Amino acid sequence: MAPDPPQAESARSTHDDLREGRAPWTHACVPRFGVPRESLRCDVAIVGAGITGSLVAEHLSARGMDVVLIDREQASHGSTAASTAMLQWEIDRSLVELTGLYGFERAARAYRLSLAAVGGLGELICGLGLACALQPRSTLYLAAGEAGASEIAREFALRRRAGLAGHHLDFDRLRHGFEIDRPAAILSAGSAEADPMALSTGLAEVAGRRGARLVAGDARDFDHTDRAVHIGLADGHEIEAKHMVLATGYVMPDFVVSALHKVTSTWAIATRPQDPSRLWRDRVLIWEASKVYHYLRTTADDRIIIGGGDEAYSDQGQRLGEAARKHAALRAMLQTFWPRARGDIAFAWSGAFGQTEDGLPLIGPVPGRRRMFAAYGYGGNGITFSFLASRMIGAMIAGDTAPWHADFALDRDKPG
Ligand SMILES: Cc1cc2nc3c(=O)[nH]c(=O)nc-3n(C[C@H](O)[C@H](O)[C@H](O)COP(=O)(O)OP(=O)(O)OC[C@H]3O[C@@H](n4cnc5c(N)ncnc54)[C@H](O)[C@@H]3O)c2cc1C
Repeated sequence: MAPDPPQAESARSTHDDLREGRAPWTHACVPRFGVPRESLRCDVAIVGAGITGSLVAEHLSARGMDVVLIDREQASHGSTAASTAMLQWEIDRSLVELTGLYGFERAARAYRLSLAAVGGLGELICGLGLACALQPRSTLYLAAGEAGASEIAREFALRRRAGLAGHHLDFDRLRHGFEIDRPAAILSAGSAEADPMALSTGLAEVAGRRGARLVAGDARDFDHTDRAVHIGLADGHEIEAKHMVLATGYVMPDFVVSALHKVTSTWAIATRPQDPSRLWRDRVLIWEASKVYHYLRTTADDRIIIGGGDEAYSDQGQRLGEAARKHAALRAMLQTFWPRARGDIAFAWSGAFGQTEDGLPLIGPVPGRRRMFAAYGYGGNGITFSFLASRMIGAMIAGDTAPWHADFALDRDKPG
């Protein structure tokens, strides 16, 4: 009998278990991660060198901490390589939904933090001069499925109350402004797009230049005392750190448990480069307000990416089995949505996709292990939330905690 295909949730899952096919990103030169010759000591050990670990390493090294960044495979080639990298501040759960779960003040705070995170990420990239095809973009949040014109109007009203700028577009304004036939939309400034692999490798390189040690190693054992964390690597070496940050993406060690976390499956395609005159106005990032949604962006080399149609399962065999059908459905969706696009597909890929029930990330100390922190920026705002995680964890390690940090705690109650 054939063995069961691996489950994305397993802590042993490799990059190959988490994503299939290839996205159109530059396979930028990854800085060298050296095999350790001896056991190491540091202020902070970061496990995982995707976009999350790289952001944390850059920030902590800028704060003057002695950092070790560890990855057991090629850095930035995990889920980060599959990301469509829409750097959005709008959260997968609408402000209306999040208000229903946590009340207006807390929901509005999450939205404002997310907006500030995208702004902060943009400033960081520009300040460091990272070549990662960063482009500021507006977003177009479209009525779709169960989310019709009245739901869009309610969302817009609540965003205004929260001080979040945007424009409500009714059917006519949407059609005249964007040539899109949907009952309504919200157009908002303040988001961006990037090449996630170039961004992640660039950040790791900056951290390395500041003295962070980039280490090739498989973190297998995690032990903690009042004074330190001890990480046992598969090769027998040990890392002793004052603090540890887990940035292992969609695979978590078994002592990290969250009632809100689930891993699902997602698919995406990218076209061949289009004639730029065939692309939509301002190349806004487009996404649908329905629960199961589609999204579109363009790339620096004029491709169109369309993704979505997520399914609740994480099983890789099932994901692969569905790939041809899902990719064909995305292509058909593109042709209906934007008939001017040339439909030849150059890249098709799929992957595991970590989500939480409330659309918010898991950031903060691992319960019962105060020197261990988790940085899991899940959902369609994964990268935005990873930036937020880097700042929150930097502050927490420095002893600078804030009451709102609890909004993202790993052991926060399940909503409702
Ligand atoms: C198809 C798709 C589309 C997406 N679109 C968007 C989007 O438009 N916008 C957005 O913001 N987000 C998006 N996301 C989400 C975003 O890509 C992720 O949140 C982000 O890439 C996760 O990065 P990470 O660094 O946390 O994880 P990863 O990139 O998976 O990195 C984790 C690293 O940890 C290493 N690791 C794991 N365990 C160990 C261990 N024990 N020892 C050593 N190393 C270990 C792995 O080897 C890996 O390199 C998308 C995701 C997918 C799959």
